[in-house]
Amino acid sequence: MKKSTKTVLCVLAAVLVIGGVVGGYVGWQLTYHPSKWMAESDGTFTEMPFEASLDELTMLSNSWEEALPQTEIYDLIQDHFASPLPAGKTAKKAIVIGYDGCRADTLRLLPTARRSAINYLLENGGQGVFSYCGGVMYPAENTQATSTAPGWCSMLIGAWAQEIGVNDNGQPKPLEPKTLLLSLVEDGTVEKSAFYVSWDGHFSKKDATYINEKNYAKDNGVNATFRRALFDPGTKFNIFSDLRKENCSDFIFLTLEYTDHEGHNSGFGPQNIRYISAFRNAEDAGMDIIEAVEARKTYDTEDWLILITTDHGGSGTGHGGPSFEERMTFIISNKTIL
Ligand SMILES: [Zn+2]
Repeated sequence: MKKSTKTVLCVLAAVLVIGGVVGGYVGWQLTYHPSKWMAESDGTFTEMPFEASLDELTMLSNSWEEALPQTEIYDLIQDHFASPLPAGKTAKKAIVIGYDGCRADTLRLLPTARRSAINYLLENGGQGVFSYCGGVMYPAENTQATSTAPGWCSMLIGAWAQEIGVNDNGQPKPLEPKTLLLSLVEDGTVEKSAFYVSWDGHFSKKDATYINEKNYAKDNGVNATFRRALFDPGTKFNIFSDLRKENCSDFIFLTLEYTDHEGHNSGFGPQNIRYISAFRNAEDAGMDIIEAVEARKTYDTEDWLILITTDHGGSGTGHGGPSFEERMTFIISNKTIL
């Protein structure tokens, strides 16, 4: 065979392989994947005004008017590590399971869930509350964007992120004040922490929110892991790997993108069957993670704080704005909150 023919065939083969991979990925992304955990009633879910739907959420211990600022997450974690060890326990641990862009009214789906991490926590001595993002309580106009970076950052530093210049995505947080990922390790509260994500805006780009913290940890030997997977299943895999270790991270913070991706794709809220499916997938992953925590050999002697929360809601196919649907969030704990 002529060299030029070989080259043409090689190029053709490469085009076919790359085209197949890209085409397959795009096709997969555009196809609806109902979760095996969806309830039969999910397909007939009725739409109702947002405020009325929040009033239905009687599994939460406060009303939406009494919502806590999302910075409460920081206090819950600090209080957990500062409180004395219960009898029979020898180590404190905490994990925050973040469902990115999970609208509060999606919790209306809990009563019919076939597998739910939130139900599991609530039914086993835990508590859930309404919380809010955006800097001030609705209906006052939000002072920071109802976006991913300011949302999670507010929880991780215990103050509204706007105060340190993180008002939206793509704005690197100054090193100080440090998030719990670094501060808990540096002040000796824990030995090691870990941040598991798939979104590249957290610490995988030049303008990522925590790029300064990631670099600082690397340069100064701080025992904090910043690990990004390509997709949520990879995030789960990274967490399982960590939790399987005898000496696993003491503080783990993770975000799952199921709900945020589908919200941007086809619409936020439980009126959208595809969004419901994404929520069911997040809940399934959340339950897998809780089971991995409880499967630890040393679980009986560990005092775990397990939190599930979200950074913001959504409206239409977006978020960032002032609407009620974007502002309300929730905090679910395996312990009491109020
Ligand atoms: Zn988000």
